[in-house]
Amino acid sequence: MGAVTDAFDVLVLGAGSGGYACALRAAQLGLTVGLIEKGKVGGTCLHVGCIPTKALLHAAEVADAARDAGRFGVRARLDGIDMPAVNGYKDGVVSRLFKGLTGLITGRGITVIEGSGTLVGPRQVAVGDQTYAGRHLVLATGSYAKSLPGLEIDGERILTSEHALALDRVPASVVVLGGGVIGCEFASVWRSFGAEVTIIEALPRLLAAEDETSSKAVERAFRKRGIRSLTATLFQSVTPTETGVAVATEGGETVEAELLLVAVGRGPVTDGLGLEEQGVALDRGYITIDDRARTGVEGVYAVGDAASTGERPGLQLAHRGFAQGIFVAEEIAGLAPTPIDEAGIPRVTYSHPEVASVGLTEAAARATYGEVETVVYDLGGNGKSQILQTQGFVKLIRAADGPVVGIHLVGDRVGELIGEAQLIYGWEAVPDDVAPLVHAHPTQNEAVGEAFLALAGKPLHAHR
Ligand code: FAD
Repeated sequence: MGAVTDAFDVLVLGAGSGGYACALRAAQLGLTVGLIEKGKVGGTCLHVGCIPTKALLHAAEVADAARDAGRFGVRARLDGIDMPAVNGYKDGVVSRLFKGLTGLITGRGITVIEGSGTLVGPRQVAVGDQTYAGRHLVLATGSYAKSLPGLEIDGERILTSEHALALDRVPASVVVLGGGVIGCEFASVWRSFGAEVTIIEALPRLLAAEDETSSKAVERAFRKRGIRSLTATLFQSVTPTETGVAVATEGGETVEAELLLVAVGRGPVTDGLGLEEQGVALDRGYITIDDRARTGVEGVYAVGDAASTGERPGLQLAHRGFAQGIFVAEEIAGLAPTPIDEAGIPRVTYSHPEVASVGLTEAAARATYGEVETVVYDLGGNGKSQILQTQGFVKLIRAADGPVVGIHLVGDRVGELIGEAQLIYGWEAVPDDVAPLVHAHPTQNEAVGEAFLALAGKPLHAHR
């Protein structure tokens, strides 16, 4: 072990959403912070996750608008996709945000330690031949793209999302293995860019963690767009062909395509970090934490994709990481923050159409509360949705005579509506609390208000 530096108040391992949020808040609270990162500060979300994928999805929306301009009486033509230019736009967004983030980190006096860290003591991390110590250690090492046994990612024909983000061409055809959030988003982008797309999903529906009504709506919309979804279908094997790959399913079907995107979930980055040697408990690779993000080792916390609070890993989302990072910084500073309500974390899939939700699905609400009441307000009655020519709905799920316990939205741009839904969910509102809120007209937000009016028994633009 090399020389040990003076201890930081907070030593953070990994500078992704969870780690850098923790570092920024801790520094703001006057604590000294060391932030260890082997790649680039910003982590998955900024460089190969949320931001670049959403830039591609926006370019896809522009392509759709050009293709469909005639629907609005505008004469325009989609002449093709200049992928290097799309990538230039995407990379520009990422680099501006990266510059802003590094400026913030420097400005707050955080010491960034470049290199790969390994635990060599309960709160000591070795980076190269130097060892850094913290009075508190926050583990924020994130996640990696998983594969399936026998499925070798080569980065040429068989890709993860990271390779897909770096593609300099639009493939003629793609098989997307996995119909979760990442799979659906890439399927949506590539279809808008003109590719033939087939999704293979083992579970009975796309976006299986979402409410069944949302899954069905997305499957329908994807079908209309020409995206093929093979649900309840198991992947069997992939073999190279002259022009790409042949993907065989256990049902006996073979789909040929130029590329295979493997989007079967993300696993925790915890191997070889010396965690178990220092007493940090792992469960199927995830760092086990309690509701105060403690690992069980004195002064050691974990946040983000690598940390799991329950039987299943928590939602692997950037804003969960941000919230946990801030929570831990405040906990260390002695502010006794309120634990994060995991069920109140909003979820958005930014495909065309978008899917957004907060709280329980109808099935989960029935399992928890027995009787539930639901209202589905069709966006067909919403002026702004008609103007945008988007279809979808707002679905509310209410526990018997109690508050609304689940809010689900489908339609273009509904991700932007989740903030209001989240507030309503968080304050455990009963329909009569929300029904009097006045929404601006014409907005898609009105659809949330209309759904609450319907649930309160006084629908305005809905039959009930
Ligand atoms: P990460 O962001 O993965 O950061 C971990 C960091 O730790 C990395 O920078 C890594 O280099 C570093 N590290 C790991 N081990 C070491 C070590 N030993 N030493 C030093 N450094 C180390 N979430 C959303 O909320 N919205 C979205 O739209 C969204 N889209 C996504 C799209 C894609 C394609 C992907 C892959 C993910 C997406 N996510 C999205 C998920 C989001 O990116 C993650 O939830 C988030 O990045 C998790 O943050 P984290 O801090 O736990 O880990």
